[in-house]
Amino acid sequence: MGLFDKCYSFTRAKEIMAMGVYPYFIPLSDTEGTEVTIDGRKLVMIGSNNYLGLTTHPKVRQAAIEAVRKYGTSCTGSRFLNGTLYLHKQLEEELADFVGKEAALVFSTGYQTNLGTISALVGKGDLVITDKEDHASIIDGCRLSYGKMLRFRHNDMADLERVLKRCDPDQGKLVVVDGIFSMGGDIAPLPDIVPLCKKYDAQLMVDDAHSVGVLGENGRGTAAHFGMTDDVDLIMGTFSKSFASLGGFIAGDEPVLHYIQHHARSLIFSASMPAACVAACLAALEVMRTEPERPKRLLAIADKMRRGYQEMGYSTGHSETPIIPIMIGGDTATFLMWRALFDAGVYTNPVIPPAVPPNKSLLRTSYIATHTDEQMGRVLMLFEQVGKGVGVI
Ligand code: PMP
Repeated sequence: MGLFDKCYSFTRAKEIMAMGVYPYFIPLSDTEGTEVTIDGRKLVMIGSNNYLGLTTHPKVRQAAIEAVRKYGTSCTGSRFLNGTLYLHKQLEEELADFVGKEAALVFSTGYQTNLGTISALVGKGDLVITDKEDHASIIDGCRLSYGKMLRFRHNDMADLERVLKRCDPDQGKLVVVDGIFSMGGDIAPLPDIVPLCKKYDAQLMVDDAHSVGVLGENGRGTAAHFGMTDDVDLIMGTFSKSFASLGGFIAGDEPVLHYIQHHARSLIFSASMPAACVAACLAALEVMRTEPERPKRLLAIADKMRRGYQEMGYSTGHSETPIIPIMIGGDTATFLMWRALFDAGVYTNPVIPPAVPPNKSLLRTSYIATHTDEQMGRVLMLFEQVGKGVGVI
């Protein structure tokens, strides 16, 4: 068997392309947030993570432009060596203050944040305990660590307790959950998770990639939403969603952050966030502090859309946030539904196994605070037409 044999015999994606329903890697020629242009056609975007609509906010855009003018286009090195600007330190201080922790550390992507944090903290003899629907970057962080990974059924507290009970009390334990789950749009029940972590002496890390900017006062995240900031040991976030930038952060107690800073390989051996990304984040944070109407509008849009889908007969699973999955089931029906919506002018994301369990394929939809009522009305109308046409509702 040659190394590349699997590549030459990999046909699944090409078969879907031949059917004309291949939905991935589609280039956009223009995007103003709520609307994108593909092949000269405009589509309403309900497949982005631009929750607050800040990618085109004048202050955020201007901050990035000014940073390029002042610092150039790249830091050309790791935070550890030549890649730390005062701007990175300022962002870390402001983030720590925003999420209510002593210290924060920024990485170049959210993926690297999970990889570096988990693998730095979970050493030989330690345990890391994850929800079965945790994001891939958490799973990869666990794989990279020298500890043992244990999993519990999604949001199932009895199963979490079963796993914790089996652990040796003397082993270090880190429980990691998504604050808002990236596919289901449901929230981790921190009021139930925290007491279990305390009972079994485990530390708790919450991946707030989809929650910062969305949940809690001014979008301070899941812990703030539940009033449990002091009970969550580590709060992780990304800048590729509400912050309209690229990068990620981890926040917690200063000694823990100091340790991560000196042990996270994805931080030390990778170049730092470019100044434009850092400046965009700082500006986005300022918008979050001063424009609380954005998350409010976002949640109102999400409620309206969820109700609309449910009234038409769609299942939206356990969604309670601006991530609303439309449960379809089979892959082929999901691709057909995606394609019909795409042709009708609606951009969604089809999600199939292994990202979801077999026969649980779905269209992931997500909303932006700047979506207009007209756009949302049009989307609902098209979902009804297309769903009936494809036979999904
Ligand atoms: N965590 C979660 C829950 C995510 O959804 C994502 C991105 N989809 C990440 C981490 C990784 O973030 P980034 O895109 O910034 O690498």
